[in-house]
Amino acid sequence: MQCKLCGREAVFKSRGIRWCRDCFEKFYLKKVEDTISKYRMFNKDSKVCVAVSGGEDSAALAHALKRLGYNITLLHIHLNIEGYSDQVLEIVEKQAEIIGAPLHVEYLEKYGLKVQRVGYRPPCAVCGVFKRYLMNKFACENNFDVICTGHTIDDLTAFLFSAILTWDIDTMNKLRPFQPSSVENLKPKAKPLAFLLDKENAFYAKLNGLPIADAKCPFELTSKVKLYKKRLRRIDPRESFRLRWYKVFLNNFPFREESRSFKKCMVCGFPTVADKCSFCRIKELFQRYQTP
Ligand code: SF4
Ligand code: ZN
Repeated sequence: MQCKLCGREAVFKSRGIRWCRDCFEKFYLKKVEDTISKYRMFNKDSKVCVAVSGGEDSAALAHALKRLGYNITLLHIHLNIEGYSDQVLEIVEKQAEIIGAPLHVEYLEKYGLKVQRVGYRPPCAVCGVFKRYLMNKFACENNFDVICTGHTIDDLTAFLFSAILTWDIDTMNKLRPFQPSSVENLKPKAKPLAFLLDKENAFYAKLNGLPIADAKCPFELTSKVKLYKKRLRRIDPRESFRLRWYKVFLNNFPFREESRSFKKCMVCGFPTVADKCSFCRIKELFQRYQTP
């Protein structure tokens, strides 16, 4: 097998192309850099907070950003999930050492919380609210310009698939690679891996010796996004559909700027469209469910 670009020995195949190590890495880094500049996500002077979960996507993203010369700090949310979170944290610490970037760990336990079903909300929905809130809080309190997440084309098309099934326009509106923000205490969110596949991130992480957490979250089986990802891979084993579909969506969906009016959460003061933010509402429900 020869690399399609330079003729050397190929080590990986994606998008119908055989790549050698060097050509793949060049392609990968260029894709990240092009996505950042095309969507004006941030620049080399920006203070960038990168959310890391212990998986290959966020590890590859942080490694690539550091290599490209961005000023990054890693943020990991310890989710207080028994038999899972401690193991993941150990891996994240090793990743940070290899990447050579400062790491901050935010512990959910500090807020008296853990991931579980709360009322009608399944664990993954509760987990999502916790992560988004704590990322934004940390970024605001430490004057970061932007929050970066390792969402890939596989994630974004799975979210899109799910949003189309329930015609959830608000979610669709959030699926751009960059979500700017002019709301006080609500940081912009960037997804520089929006045009890269899961398997490309996994291969980049492997090439660069990044350890990956193999602990499985006990709630993973209830995750709809994981299920939709699998389904999309089954109908699109050659990857081209997901890439084209996302681009068609970006070119045709009538994206609108945030039109909802925000106010301050009456409990914590962070922006919300209701009287209390989702985090504070879940926290209250959590305390109610915990009270005998
Ligand atoms: Fe959170 Fe669900 Fe992922 Fe577990 S599987 S870490 S609960 S989003
Ligand atoms: Zn609040």
